[in-house]
Amino acid sequence: MHTNQTLKSYRGRFAPSPSGELHFGSLLAAMASYADARAHQGQWLLRIDDIDQVRVVPDSEQHIINSLEQAGFEWDEPVYYQSQHIADYQQALGNLTAGGLIYPCYCSRKQIKALARDNIYPGICRETAIPDESADEYALRIRVPEQNLSFNDLIQGHYCQQLDKEVGDFIIFRRDKVFTYQLAIVVDEYLAGISHVIRGHDLISSTPRQMFLQQQLGFATPRYGHIPLAVTPDNLKLSKLSHAKKVTTDLTTLVLAARILGQAVLKAEDYQHQQDFWKHLFQIWQLKQVPKMEKIEIMY
Ligand SMILES: [Zn+2]
Repeated sequence: MHTNQTLKSYRGRFAPSPSGELHFGSLLAAMASYADARAHQGQWLLRIDDIDQVRVVPDSEQHIINSLEQAGFEWDEPVYYQSQHIADYQQALGNLTAGGLIYPCYCSRKQIKALARDNIYPGICRETAIPDESADEYALRIRVPEQNLSFNDLIQGHYCQQLDKEVGDFIIFRRDKVFTYQLAIVVDEYLAGISHVIRGHDLISSTPRQMFLQQQLGFATPRYGHIPLAVTPDNLKLSKLSHAKKVTTDLTTLVLAARILGQAVLKAEDYQHQQDFWKHLFQIWQLKQVPKMEKIEIMY
């Protein structure tokens, strides 16, 4: 891997996990990332976040891709699969380990719960060395500094987090031998040269962790923008609902999504074809019009 990469041109992405159908909440994230890329004459990529095979629902990846195609999304490169990049995650873990930041953690969930304050890992195993050969089960954690990490979110504005107090040493490689989301996506964004990450608000609190990993690995930090999370009127995140309805891809739904994202699109019947809608959206798209809210209620 090269380091100190500079991000010159706009490259955005949408990265669903294949754990169900494309629902309305993920359509919002797909649309916001797509329209922002196209409004900047940028490229837009599709990534399937399938690192956690336990959560993968068979066929859902194909369903998501079909829904996106039917809705008129066009990605510029072949689909990127996390499951094909295990060697890259391994290499990044090697670099972090060489930097002396990684330690094995043998604690059970129960032990941590008994000792942790606010669910923050209290560093019990911090001084433990990584064994050369061991049949023992352990996770690998990264030591975080006493450091404030902040960034200017393109939608939500200033965001700041003190990693040691608010997150604690976090897991990079799980006990069941799976790389964690945090490490995987930092490597993914780097390998794909992603310059802008537009995604749901549920991920804003993991952004400082990702920035910390980027700093340790010598990767450039993309710009981030977090759109409001779609919730049901009883405050349930759509993606957490097992029965979250598969999104329809007709013009009425696309227009509704664009309006929720604050964009001044026309009525569905004023667009003759789906392409007319997209063309218009790219022309008028303004990220600044996306509501600066954590969540937004969807009757869907
Ligand atoms: Zn531990």
